[in-house]
Amino acid sequence: MSKFWSPFVKNLVPYVPGEQPKLTNLVKLNTNENPYGPSPKAIAAMQAELNDSLRLYPDPNGERLKRAVADYYGVQPAQVFVGNGSDEVLAHAFYGLFQHSKPLLFPDVTYSFYPVYCGLYGIAYETIALDDEFQIDVAGYSRPNGGIIFPNPNAPTGCLLALDAIERLLQANPDSVVLVDEAYIDFGGTSAIALVDRYPNLLVTQTLSKSRSLAGLRVGLAVGHPDLIEALERIKNSFNSYPLDRIAIAGAAVAFEDRVYFEQTCQQVVASREAVVSAMQGLGFQVLPSAANFIFARHPQRDAAALAAGLREQGVIVRHFKHPRIEQFLRITIGTPEQNQALLDALKGIG
Ligand SMILES: *Cc1c(COP(=O)(O)O)cnc(C)c1O
Repeated sequence: MSKFWSPFVKNLVPYVPGEQPKLTNLVKLNTNENPYGPSPKAIAAMQAELNDSLRLYPDPNGERLKRAVADYYGVQPAQVFVGNGSDEVLAHAFYGLFQHSKPLLFPDVTYSFYPVYCGLYGIAYETIALDDEFQIDVAGYSRPNGGIIFPNPNAPTGCLLALDAIERLLQANPDSVVLVDEAYIDFGGTSAIALVDRYPNLLVTQTLSKSRSLAGLRVGLAVGHPDLIEALERIKNSFNSYPLDRIAIAGAAVAFEDRVYFEQTCQQVVASREAVVSAMQGLGFQVLPSAANFIFARHPQRDAAALAAGLREQGVIVRHFKHPRIEQFLRITIGTPEQNQALLDALKGIG
């Protein structure tokens, strides 16, 4: 703390990301990165940007990427916003769409960046408890609110909310923005982007960090009514005109265009997930139904913190949250078949 700080900084509670270890020999199943590399075509497109044109600023609007996303989802470029990771897109949405007199609503067990943005922007919020099966309780959101946000599939549970339930939420809250954070939608869900033309209060965010294997590039996006996008553009243009560099715009656009590679890698992750779920159940774990590239599991007789420590000793890192309701769960990213086997072997190796 220092006298030079703006006063509110003293009370900020920042987000703590999962560990990015310096050791390279670890089996890293803690931050939901894709075990497969990005599309080779996307890598070639990025390499092609490494030339003298880097002396020039990039396109401030990332039009090339907006067009690729719009083509992929069959929407207009004016319905698309792009930013430096979906975390940045979410931050702009919190600032530009959720700062109202009524509280923002989100699940009690969810992405832990949401309360951090509320702290940053002074947004009041209320959490709505997941039901006993850890599913989102749609009826619980029928209360006064200045907005609703949840990931679908939810994080860290992996549980999917069906599109018809999302429609019921949208219809019950016509005066609030409902933001569906689809960081993991490509691993088993149907995107709510299919609904944006019918619901002007729906904003959907996605990231290229998970299903498109580009966590290191930092690209995220939002799709919704042009009026919602306009709010995000105003914030963005009051904050940083060039959130995406030339390399990011080129790589992300081609990642969207290379559907074959994307679909193949997603299918491999999903097949591995199903294999890991059965193997973990065979070891006595309870695994929540996952539509994501991770699973959320607990063992009825074994302490989760001790399991995480035991795995770590054997070079496997997973995520453990010391939060109420979920402190006996482990969140485990799906890796390559070899990494998944290392996880299972390590679990068997814990006494
Ligand atoms: C990973 C993740 C994000 C952030 O993605 P970035 O684009 O890497 O910033 C957003 N929401 C959820 C639920 C996530 O798991």
